[in-house]
Amino acid sequence: MSAPNVVTGSCLCQTFRYKVTGPPKTTVICHCDSCRKGTGSAFMANSLYLKDQLQVLTGEDSLRVYVDNSTGSGKPLSKSFCSICGSSLFVSSESIDPSTVAITSGTMDLGPSKGEWEPKMEFFCARRREWLAPVEGTAKHDTMM
Ligand SMILES: [Zn+2]
Ligand SMILES: [Zn+2]
Repeated sequence: MSAPNVVTGSCLCQTFRYKVTGPPKTTVICHCDSCRKGTGSAFMANSLYLKDQLQVLTGEDSLRVYVDNSTGSGKPLSKSFCSICGSSLFVSSESIDPSTVAITSGTMDLGPSKGEWEPKMEFFCARRREWLAPVEGTAKHDTMM
């Protein structure tokens, strides 16, 4: 199964819906402490897109933004989430790259196949949980790049 050109996504309660068109610039797993806190899970898995590729379909009013100033890179990150169900949706940073938005892969309507989503890079590998095997084939970094 190859990567679909248009991918839809939503938060858990489906109030906020979006779609992205075209392939992501890259896909990233991050093991830093901020990503663990922000996702509530063992690591974050995001797709990076140009902001132009992202279109909000419904629920823009339900979106809230938290600015995280305690990131591993030291640069503030804006984290968008649904104010109703709490799903983490987007991460962006004016100081790192204002043209790019990271979209949480868990909110994208994708199947389990590697053709639909697989990580290309891993950040903060030094913080990776020991029980979690390194992903084969990713470019691994001990910090952000
Ligand atoms: Zn929601
Ligand atoms: Zn991180």
